[in-house]
Amino acid sequence: MLGFLLSYFSKDLAMDLGTANTLIYMRGKGIVLNEPSVVAITHDTHKVIAVGHEARNMIGRHSHRIVIIRPLKDGVIADFEVTAVMIKYFLAKVLTKRHIFRPRLVVAVPTGVTSVEKRAVIEAAGQAGARYIHLIEEPMAAAIGAGLPIDQPRGNMVVDIGGGTTEVAVISMFTVAYSESVRVAGDEANESIMRYAQRERQMIISEMLAESVKVRIGSAMAADKPETMEITGKEILSGIPKTFTVTDAEIREAMKETVEAIVDAVRRALEKTPPDLAADIHDSGFWLAGGGALLKGLDRLLSENTKLKVNIAEDPLTAVARGAGSVIEHVDFYKSVFIN
Ligand code: ADP
Ligand code: MG
Repeated sequence: MLGFLLSYFSKDLAMDLGTANTLIYMRGKGIVLNEPSVVAITHDTHKVIAVGHEARNMIGRHSHRIVIIRPLKDGVIADFEVTAVMIKYFLAKVLTKRHIFRPRLVVAVPTGVTSVEKRAVIEAAGQAGARYIHLIEEPMAAAIGAGLPIDQPRGNMVVDIGGGTTEVAVISMFTVAYSESVRVAGDEANESIMRYAQRERQMIISEMLAESVKVRIGSAMAADKPETMEITGKEILSGIPKTFTVTDAEIREAMKETVEAIVDAVRRALEKTPPDLAADIHDSGFWLAGGGALLKGLDRLLSENTKLKVNIAEDPLTAVARGAGSVIEHVDFYKSVFIN
């Protein structure tokens, strides 16, 4: 009875602590928060000015007194303190006074996190009011979110392409049998577009603009119809704003190395997967998750390079949060996926 009451009044949560976006899933409700993993602080006193969407909107438009931080940028917790502030802020946002009992919390973290980083996440979540804090690996959550039978004795492969990292994992019977993580993903693609604009067009463009170019006309393989986009940057020599046109072919060229690094990571993972699990993957293919899964033609390119069927998880940007959410909905079934 007490257990029932506890679970009725406390809203158990699952969090996808991503390098680009943080999502929170509430048991019985679904995704209740989806914001950029960005914090704005003052340069001198380190006072927090804004978190999430509000902080992201300041990028490129703030004064020199403010620093915009992405505390998880490279796939590890680069800045403990700021990560803790961000976790606390997001949890406070979804927990209202109605939630009188402290919630259980599942947090999806990158596979490579160190024990120090794990402790930092647990501590921050504890301070923010969470009761039991369980950690699960992101690719595990992605696989559950993609609806893969991770409880079965068979190889399930997922490739989660986020902002800072691409994680490839082969999962069987609730455990990650093999994983490969590279620090090449969406951010690197944006940076390569910025570098291309400088080198080939002598133009400086913002990272936000590079990202919208990638999302609008970026691709890993040519489509039937060529595409162009007009963008405005600053001419290096004159320093004057200027509008110019880029084509999908140019952007593909700019992102070539980034895309190749992702293809290589997938190939390496396949090479290192034990034969029986590899045979399962040969039968059903593998799944793409994370925002990078939305890059046009990436599924086709990966399929050509691996000769395997490539599936895109439904709504890839929310796959990890929905997977971690399933874990919080069915804790007894999934309890062996916890890594702490
Ligand atoms: P993380 O888990 O690291 O927070 P996400 O899974 O939220 O990352 O994915 C964010 C990345 O996905 C960003 O680099 C973003 O630019 C990229 N992205 C989002 N939508 C698209 C799209 N339609 N095409 C290509 N990349 C995209
Ligand atoms: Mg992610």
